[in-house]
Amino acid sequence: MNTFQDLGLNEDLLHAITDLGFEKPSDVQDKAIPILLDQDTDLVALAQTGTGKTAAFGFPMLQKINVDSRTTQGLILSPTRELCLQITNEMKQYGKYCKGLNVVAIYGGASISDQAREVKRGAQIIVATPGRMKDMISRRMVDISKIEYSVLDEADEMLNMGFKEDITDILSHTPDDKNTWLFSATMPKEVSNIAKRFMDNPIEITVGNKNESTNQVSHEYYLVNSRDRYQALKRLSDANPDIFSVIFCRTKRDTQKVAENLIEDGYSAGALHGDLSQNQRDIVMKSFRNKQIQMLVATDVAARGIDVDDITHVINYQLPDEPEIYTHRSGRTGRAGKTGISMVIVSKSEVRKIKSIERIIKKQFEKKEIPDGMEICQVQLMSLANKIHNTEVNHEIDKYLTTINELFEDTSKDELIKKFFSVEFTRFFNYYQRTKNLNVSESGSDRDGGRDYSANSNDSRYFINVGRKDGFDWMKLKDFLKEVLELGRDDVFKVDVKESFSFFNTEKELQEKILAFFNDFKHNGRFVNVEVSEDRGRGTSRNKRRDGGGRSDRRSGDDRRSGGDRRSGGERRSGDFKPRGDRRSESRSDSGNRSDRRSSGNRSERRSSEGQSDSRRGRDKSEFKTTHSRPKRSRR
Ligand code: ADP
Ligand code: MG
Repeated sequence: MNTFQDLGLNEDLLHAITDLGFEKPSDVQDKAIPILLDQDTDLVALAQTGTGKTAAFGFPMLQKINVDSRTTQGLILSPTRELCLQITNEMKQYGKYCKGLNVVAIYGGASISDQAREVKRGAQIIVATPGRMKDMISRRMVDISKIEYSVLDEADEMLNMGFKEDITDILSHTPDDKNTWLFSATMPKEVSNIAKRFMDNPIEITVGNKNESTNQVSHEYYLVNSRDRYQALKRLSDANPDIFSVIFCRTKRDTQKVAENLIEDGYSAGALHGDLSQNQRDIVMKSFRNKQIQMLVATDVAARGIDVDDITHVINYQLPDEPEIYTHRSGRTGRAGKTGISMVIVSKSEVRKIKSIERIIKKQFEKKEIPDGMEICQVQLMSLANKIHNTEVNHEIDKYLTTINELFEDTSKDELIKKFFSVEFTRFFNYYQRTKNLNVSESGSDRDGGRDYSANSNDSRYFINVGRKDGFDWMKLKDFLKEVLELGRDDVFKVDVKESFSFFNTEKELQEKILAFFNDFKHNGRFVNVEVSEDRGRGTSRNKRRDGGGRSDRRSGDDRRSGGDRRSGGERRSGDFKPRGDRRSESRSDSGNRSDRRSSGNRSERRSSEGQSDSRRGRDKSEFKTTHSRPKRSRR
């Protein structure tokens, strides 16, 4: 085995290496350093995490650049802010005897002008995350047109996180004759594509097993009706009491909505999307990292920077439009040698997308059932039992023990345990005992396919005297009803718009409220008339077909999202609501409310995350967990 001297490193670097206490080169260093020092070549190096890759490219880069020049000669791209800072720090240590060396880190979430100023002072080496780098290039805050060496560090991770376009864009601003060194733990197709595209006959070195995937993710899907998506999400979370997850939605709006609903229902959730300010996003991310937030609801774009290692579950609340994006999502879990689960909630009409994703990820999905209420009760109970079993006794309690013991004098241990657990269990039990099965069989028809407009015995079907001539299609009418009635996303369904009138369904429980609301409501100056439709006939045959799928469609009020009393309705009645033009302003004022609520949410998060000792925080967290699902809220 070579020593560092043997590899051809100069005195300044050897000096620093001695200071660092590195005795001999690691495998990847042993292989890469001589090649990079001696040859002007592109390089692909595959080695697992922790094998010393930073020094493998860092030493040669430090030796080859000209520290007397202030031109930026080396660019290192890395997937996350943490890694970016880590590499910068390592590079500074390796180069501490290289007089005049200036290594600058560029990453999101910190002042861009400060970073620009540092670059301007003359940075021979820039270490950057792709997003911020691209930003600074477009603002002409950096000049990388004279780069001689570029490094793509953790290339698989960068691609996993969706940085392909950014990387392509950044590299297009660098000279063709530079050398590119790609470092990666694995070599999935996307990485070899990048290598093919941006590299010229790269020398390839491998340490350990090539293609040994570090990504230990299993893939599951759950088939439900679209309007049960949210319920399904809650159950998946309830069935995994220690979940620490990212939940992906397609739009910013859905992201915000799902997060809000979860928070309202007592979960520790937060939203991450582009409509939040950088500051708000930082606060949410901080709470998530500290595990004050168990469920982070995010858009794909906003989630790109998420670099949290121990995410247990990724939940695809909706599938992404592009199947490729699924890889980026599921790659958020199963990191750093841990296992993870990527769950997909799909409706019938989307289930074929699973197949195309399977082709891309080259892995099979397992079809799983949304757990039923009793399973969840059991899981929650056992989780509580374990928690209690592992709890350290707080001796502050001792002084109350005499009184407590007196109270339980005649209670046996057995009975006491039963009573104790009933406190928690009854809450879940009451919530879940009458809930329906959310699973849909793959062979039956899809009620949400938009064609089955019948009302089953738990739904009410309504006639409404507006239709296409009033500018509605089914989506607009659904939005309209949702907004004027202040209902949840899935409360109005089976909307069927005709020329001058339409039909829609809701749960029977909402009937009274809906009829009362439309008793006296004008739209575009004319009274809107809503009646319960007797139009059941056309549904009968469909009902039969549907019931053939063998599902139980019993849906109890308990399983519906709460909010009845939140939707006061009354004040908004007079508002003349236009489905088209005005909708925008309507939703704008809506988002105003939302951001209020959002920021107050953040405030309370901040309160609980700051200014407290760890033990206090720990207690808060466990308090949060026991009120986790807060079924009682939904029962109101
Ligand atoms: P990777 O990028 O492959 O995950 P790093 O470059 O971050 O690994 O190195 C992991 C750790 O090992 C760092 O703390 C680094 O300082 C240390 N290290 C790197 N090379 C050596 C060496 N030759 N001898 C001892 N420690 C080393
Ligand atoms: Mg590294």
